[in-house]
Amino acid sequence: MESFFEKQLEEIAGEGRVLVQEELAGHTTFRVGGPADYYVRPQTPESLCRLVWYLKETERDFFVMGNGSNLLVSDLGYRGTVVDVSGLDEIRIEGTEIYAQAGALLSKAAQMALSAGLTGLEFASGIPGSIGGALVMNAGAYGSEMADVTREVILVGEDGTENSLSGSDMQFGYRTSICRKGKGVVSAARISLKPGDKTEIEEKMKELALKRKSRQPLEYPSAGSTFKRPEGYYAGKLIMDAGLPGYTIGGAQVSPKHCGFIINTGRATAADIYDLIMEVREKVGERFGVELEPEVCIIGDF
Ligand SMILES: Cc1cc2nc3c(=O)[nH]c(=O)nc-3n(C[C@H](O)[C@H](O)[C@H](O)COP(=O)(O)OP(=O)(O)OC[C@H]3O[C@@H](n4cnc5c(N)ncnc54)[C@H](O)[C@@H]3O)c2cc1C
Repeated sequence: MESFFEKQLEEIAGEGRVLVQEELAGHTTFRVGGPADYYVRPQTPESLCRLVWYLKETERDFFVMGNGSNLLVSDLGYRGTVVDVSGLDEIRIEGTEIYAQAGALLSKAAQMALSAGLTGLEFASGIPGSIGGALVMNAGAYGSEMADVTREVILVGEDGTENSLSGSDMQFGYRTSICRKGKGVVSAARISLKPGDKTEIEEKMKELALKRKSRQPLEYPSAGSTFKRPEGYYAGKLIMDAGLPGYTIGGAQVSPKHCGFIINTGRATAADIYDLIMEVREKVGERFGVELEPEVCIIGDF
């Protein structure tokens, strides 16, 4: 029987937009994760605002799912509500800016920038995240990051209202922003670019895609770099020097191709991946005295 809470969620998000006990493995690039009690897919900024307000007002636990490319969700799942913003995917060029809703894919934004002859987002073309997730994480690659191109972020606060934040209001840092302190849900953003030469932009994107393909284990499910880069070191190099390439627990493996990636070789559980993260940290800590901090967001109980 539908609970009152479920009915309320459906009233806010629309019919068929609330799933109960939805397996999260199908929503994460690691391809692991048990069921969420509730899984809601708002389709408009207004319904996202109402949802955030309602969840806060009723003191319910929730987290936002972007493209699930930086998440490790427990096999036990999540005892709360997952807000999936992939339905908020409007994206358009406004002069030299891109307006994009939170659920739009970063790769699509980069392709649109290319089509419009705008430079600045080439670095992001191979990052498999959403605009929202990329802003929260301050995603970056090859010397650039979201902080460099963000002019405005529309953030939904606890009271369900939208606020406009500048790039500096976002307090971007290395793979972090104000949102990682639980402050707000990204609804949309304006990315500021510069006029450029289409051929050069395309060449750059191709060059970076080739680099990724040759260096990263893109053929396996993963969440990209598992650990943040410790100051003065590279996580992948430390892991390699600790003798861990190919080190395996269950179906989780330190990628022999790029030790900074933990991959799901096919049958990994979230627990396998979690245990491997902990073991790699321990071994690198013992060997080099460097503490590796996960970049991957860990959700649920382990
Ligand atoms: C093959 C591969 C390569 C990768 N390469 C890179 C890389 O080069 N550089 C890099 O930085 N990252 C990389 N990543 C990691 C990942 O793609 C980025 O961190 C990305 O920005 C995450 O976006 P997402 O939409 O998937 O977020 P999710 O994984 O869905 O969420 C990440 C965090 O953001 C929160 N969140 C998501 N959307 C919102 C929102 N709208 N409002 C508030 N909170 C939100 C979530 O609750 C969670 O805490 C890679 C991952 C893979 C699998």
